[in-house]
Amino acid sequence: MNAPARPKKSFGQHFLHERRYIERIVAAISPRSDDFLVEIGPGEGALTFPLLTVAGKLTAIELDTDLIPRLQQQAAGIGELSIVHADVLKVDFTALAQRAGVTRLRIAGNLPYYISSPILFHCIDHAAAITDMHFMLQKEVVDRMAAEPGSKVYGRLSVMLQVACRVVPLFDVPPGAFRPPPKVDSSVVRLVPIPPEERHDADPARLHAIVKAAFAQRRKTLSNALRQLMDAEAIRAAGIDPKVRAEMLAPMDFVALAKGRES
Ligand code: SAM
Repeated sequence: MNAPARPKKSFGQHFLHERRYIERIVAAISPRSDDFLVEIGPGEGALTFPLLTVAGKLTAIELDTDLIPRLQQQAAGIGELSIVHADVLKVDFTALAQRAGVTRLRIAGNLPYYISSPILFHCIDHAAAITDMHFMLQKEVVDRMAAEPGSKVYGRLSVMLQVACRVVPLFDVPPGAFRPPPKVDSSVVRLVPIPPEERHDADPARLHAIVKAAFAQRRKTLSNALRQLMDAEAIRAAGIDPKVRAEMLAPMDFVALAKGRES
């Protein structure tokens, strides 16, 4: 049995140790033996080994070299663990699925919080190759992801996530469940990508630019906030009142703006 790893702050390491939360996450994922399961940041294997026990095989992406030998050692006899030593932001999930000969992956992970938003955006870029995602994140981030129009925390993350996925917050996890405890509460969330045939067809770069500008100054009216990107007439042509604030628009309203004419 290996001694516990010393958690590294620079890698955002907070190792989950409370069994009941591990069990709840595994139950939420409910892996099947024919799933192609990918874990982001296995750490010491808190989720890896229970998932491997049920699924029989798993691909884990870990940046910290020091953790890899112990993961490999411990996996022997449990299942087929394939470890990719890489920064998850550089992993092409679409290519990974193709190489594995599967149409879609299932992704899970207790994410390193210092890059949680970039990881979410990266996964969304590969949404067509993903069946679902189960992530542990800061509770505050999950609240923003799931927020509805009019809420104080509704913003860029809510819109960009909700136009790509169904966002299902599952349960909260207190700091004491981790070693060392993070300074914030955590939450587990399920993301289910909208099927390609139902997904919006707006240009992703234009959508991103509009959403970013719209929420950069939340108190401005839409026409003021989007001044550099489109005029009031173009906003009206998309069926939206230019005098409203961005926080009152539904996620699909931003898609309508992105698909409208530029000015
Ligand atoms: N899954 C483990 C658990 O629940 O105890 C560890 C979770 S810990 C919060 C985050 C993990 O992500 C660590 O193992 C860390 O080394 C890894 N990590 C950090 N940055 C990463 C990156 N850019 N790419 C892949 N893994 C990363």
